[in-house]
Amino acid sequence: MPSILIIDNEFPIRKNIYNYFENDGYIIQTTKSGSEGIQLAFSNDFNFILIEQDLTDHDGLRVLQAIKKMKPETVCFIIAKNPSYESAVKAANLGACSYIPKPLSYEGLIFHLRKGEKHRQLYIEALNLRKERHENLLELSREKSAFKTVLNSINGGVLVINKKGELVYYNNASLVYLNVDDLEVGEYIIDRLPNKIIQQVSDYLFAKSYIEKVREIEVEMIPNNKLHIQAVCSHIPKNSNDYSGVILVTRDITNKKKIEQIKSQFVSMVAHELKTPLVAVQGFLQILNNPEIQITDEKRDDFLSRSSDRLGGLFQLVNDLLDISRMEVEEKKRDLENIDFENVVKSVTEFLELDYKKKNITLNLNIKDNLPKIKAEKEDINRLVTNLVSNAIKYNNENGTISLTASSEDNYLMFEIEDTGIGIKEEDKPKVFQEFFRAMNKETRSVSGTGLGLAIVKGIVKSYHGKIYFDSTYRKGTKFTVKLPISKTIYKIKPNYALENS
Ligand code: ADP
Repeated sequence: MPSILIIDNEFPIRKNIYNYFENDGYIIQTTKSGSEGIQLAFSNDFNFILIEQDLTDHDGLRVLQAIKKMKPETVCFIIAKNPSYESAVKAANLGACSYIPKPLSYEGLIFHLRKGEKHRQLYIEALNLRKERHENLLELSREKSAFKTVLNSINGGVLVINKKGELVYYNNASLVYLNVDDLEVGEYIIDRLPNKIIQQVSDYLFAKSYIEKVREIEVEMIPNNKLHIQAVCSHIPKNSNDYSGVILVTRDITNKKKIEQIKSQFVSMVAHELKTPLVAVQGFLQILNNPEIQITDEKRDDFLSRSSDRLGGLFQLVNDLLDISRMEVEEKKRDLENIDFENVVKSVTEFLELDYKKKNITLNLNIKDNLPKIKAEKEDINRLVTNLVSNAIKYNNENGTISLTASSEDNYLMFEIEDTGIGIKEEDKPKVFQEFFRAMNKETRSVSGTGLGLAIVKGIVKSYHGKIYFDSTYRKGTKFTVKLPISKTIYKIKPNYALENS
């Protein structure tokens, strides 16, 4: 039900308007006082307010101003006994819907109220639109900041360029990967990009039509394996023929590159190690097969035995490589069993008995009683002990000694193997666990090996979360210590450890 407030000091006017509209179903209140009118307007929601311009207690325009300030949606009219052009303009500026000169007719008032109603509806619509727009803007800014957060939290760099070559968006990662200090949204970006990327981005930016294909390149941003990135460039489509910009996504591939490099070094080392004995055997066979070369039976036997030794070494090398690749298999579960370490040591020393006896080496076994069992794959522990004992024999002197001790300490099984052999020079110590490392000196010259034994041992120890270290004095002897945890944990092999350097 629409409501009207009439503020007029003339009683007949109030009464007339009251009578006009009461029958039309309006709720009507009247007052002669401007102050009371303001009070009533504040405490009620009138649809329309008619205000006499010249109230006895107030200036009607002031009353209008006060009401409009508090209730801007209320439709107000100024009624004037002494209308003037200036007052009409002032009233309009203060938000009056109409300026109605007295005397007032019923028809005149109805006309103004209808106009006022439209005015009010338009005002409410505008208000709602403004509110909606405000909410949309809020939503948009929330989405924008969520989008920004998402892009900033991803690992890759994202950079968006418009068709004019201006930067539209970038995240922090792209600054790092493109190796630039700062960028500014809106700036012409092409000149700011690193040289190695410019061509790729330009090809897209200056393309005549939309390119569907994505182009990837790998770029070394900072030399010496400091920063290697993959940059993926593509068009942002506008329609099937046109594009609205270019997006450049960058990703750090430094680690991948490092691994590739280590792998290729490893492969070339393997190829070299395989080639050397093959070349030697081929050489011997060529001599033996050449009817023009006369050699004694003794020499022939020597060549055959040296070829056989070389092939034996080659076999050992292939077996060691197979061991390494076996251990590289990702997260492989093992066949674990409770292993009696004493049994392993005894079987290994029995197996190598001929070798140490040949050099007249004395073997001292000191295995503590009731050694706790370790949970491991028997083949691994067997290989670990065999490699260490075999080295202690190979790099020992004639009539030397090897002392093997096994005990338990702080939840670890401790295995120590000490020899009185040739020892390891200080400069060689950091390299002994590296693949293919073999100390080159006159003491080792006659000893055969692949340089993979200790790398395998280290790999095994690491995969059981154990520890290995050694102490050595050149020309005096070496002591290796291995600690393996006594625990029920199921171990998993860590990938790629055989490629890591010690
Ligand atoms: P390989 O014995 O097949 O050469 P390893 O990986 O087992 O390879 O050992 C690497 C190198 O470490 C050996 O070539 C040798 O120079 C040195 N080394 C290993 N064990 C001993 C040891 N007990 N005493 C002296 N030097 C050793």
